[in-house]
Amino acid sequence: MKNVTLDEVIQTYGVENWGAGYFEVNRKGHLIARPFEGDPRFVDIKELIDDLTELRKVQLPILLRFPQILANQLNKLHRAFRDSTREFNYTGSHFGVFPMKVNPRREVLEELLREGSKYNFGVECGSKSELYAALSLDQPPDSLLICNGFKDEAFISLALLGTKIGKRVVIVIEKLNELKTVMRLVQETGVKPTLGLRAKLYSKGSGKWASSGGEAAKFGLTTSEILECVRLLSEFQMLDALKLLHFHIGSQITDIKRVKNAMKEAARVYSKIRQMHIDIEYLDIGGGLGVDYDGSKTTFEASVNYTVQEFANDVIYMIKSVCEDENVPEPNLVTESGRNISAYHAVLVASIQDEIETFADDLPEVCVTEDDAEVVVELKALYDDINSKNYREYYHDALDHKDELHTQFNLGLVSLEDRAKGEVLFWEVCSRASRFASTSKLEEEEFDGLKKILASKYLCNFSVFRSVPDHWAIGQLFPVMPIHRLNEPPTDYATFVDLTCDSDGIIDKFVDLKDVKEVLEIHPFAGEPYFIAIFLVGAYQEVMGSFHNLFGLPNEAHVVIGDDGRYHIKKIVHGSKISDMISYARYDKNVAWENFRRLAAAKVGAGLMSEEDANTLIEQYENGINRYTYLE
Ligand SMILES: *Cc1c(COP(=O)(O)O)cnc(C)c1O
Repeated sequence: MKNVTLDEVIQTYGVENWGAGYFEVNRKGHLIARPFEGDPRFVDIKELIDDLTELRKVQLPILLRFPQILANQLNKLHRAFRDSTREFNYTGSHFGVFPMKVNPRREVLEELLREGSKYNFGVECGSKSELYAALSLDQPPDSLLICNGFKDEAFISLALLGTKIGKRVVIVIEKLNELKTVMRLVQETGVKPTLGLRAKLYSKGSGKWASSGGEAAKFGLTTSEILECVRLLSEFQMLDALKLLHFHIGSQITDIKRVKNAMKEAARVYSKIRQMHIDIEYLDIGGGLGVDYDGSKTTFEASVNYTVQEFANDVIYMIKSVCEDENVPEPNLVTESGRNISAYHAVLVASIQDEIETFADDLPEVCVTEDDAEVVVELKALYDDINSKNYREYYHDALDHKDELHTQFNLGLVSLEDRAKGEVLFWEVCSRASRFASTSKLEEEEFDGLKKILASKYLCNFSVFRSVPDHWAIGQLFPVMPIHRLNEPPTDYATFVDLTCDSDGIIDKFVDLKDVKEVLEIHPFAGEPYFIAIFLVGAYQEVMGSFHNLFGLPNEAHVVIGDDGRYHIKKIVHGSKISDMISYARYDKNVAWENFRRLAAAKVGAGLMSEEDANTLIEQYENGINRYTYLE
């Protein structure tokens, strides 16, 4: 028999649209993750969380990392370029590099370089710290180590050091002055560098990051600057060092048309330079390959209207046609995709701690008598008589009465008890009106707003600022849903507030195929453990998250699914302790302890506390400081 509820619930959360075959719901009503689309093996995320929290005593929130998903995203990109290279008889090869700014975690880079060793997958870095980290990694010998970003002398020297010890470092010139520094250091050290030029294209991306490209972009050389670089290099007899041409038109390009336009332009620039008898071997097309966060397959900012294969095909086809037209060799292609490779592999799971209701429905029944204020009696009448025919009119009346109630209260005409009764009745009328509206066929904006006001706020054990900063900073959408009870109908609506004392610490925008939902369908919270997960947080969120309210890094579990179909928790990484977070704010744990001890000693000295009680307090203080920063 078909499980109607389950199918409806799956549709409600859209998991089949954004899950990319990695995330699904099983017949138990639990969320599951697979290593790749169509793989019969899976891990039941609810059972995994029970295992982690109950058996292994790992506290929520927990960031789940699935290295197999990371590896599969990388393989998908590689396969797409391999297949399209074959299809179009393209003569260049594909060299992927992972941009460290998207997720600099050592485990992420190690997994990618291990998986990518089959096809020379490398690293891109944009700062000295990233380059130091990158130099410590075990890269495949022929893979590239690309240095983008603004560079000072120390950055360039470090890059040359990398070249000296045998890494294939490419120094990408972003500004004319960088080239001058490079040429000076090369003369001083005698190292033979590999250089790239970053071009500012006229073409722009689309979506939120469109301004990363175009004439006003922060990075890149204008046409005249490129020509000046070529002139300088030629003057110093260093033209043979120039091997790469780079551009990046912005992240999360939503519209494939923009990709094609940029490729056309970039391939022309490449061809013209090539025709100057400069052996540019690599055309580095940057990042921008997007993620379909809402699953709508559209040009909406949370989506993309193309697949990875279509992206690869268009890139290869466009570049090939221009090269044929200009009669120049087809370059090797470098991609710097970060978001698309790493977004899927990380999932944050948090528990609901409590429900914050607009009006509590466990208050005593409102009892209205003739002696109550008239406005209260009228609200009671609305409450009693509201129905599917009059709900709109009654709702409007209730709004008037509520204003009247507060006006009269301010004039001293209504008692505190009557104000309380009136408010409860008002929200009851709203709640009934909203229910009538949602069963009626009419689409009424007025009642959509009401639905949002009436929705519960679920207090959730995590920090938006730490774990999904882009939701706060730029309103980015991430799929959010419960990981269990999915064979029960979600009859409530909710938004999720985090633990920070910040009203911006809230998730109140949710993915939807046609729209952006302002409330999420959710199961009634009955005090039983209830878990929600935030998906696709593996790109940018970890590194951009901040320590607002001194909430620290979440606990982390790395999970793989074996050939036997069972999951293995490969690694548990403890999140920050309270002591870590206070020292981040430059408090010394030992000094803090010493100060506390002194306060206790003073109490004992003044005869206000026994030695024994003081020691108990000190012990409590000490035990607490090494605990997790989130709610236990
Ligand atoms: C940010 C960035 C990337 C990564 O972009 P994604 O959209 O995450 O793939 C690649 N290259 C450069 C130069 C960047 O600045």
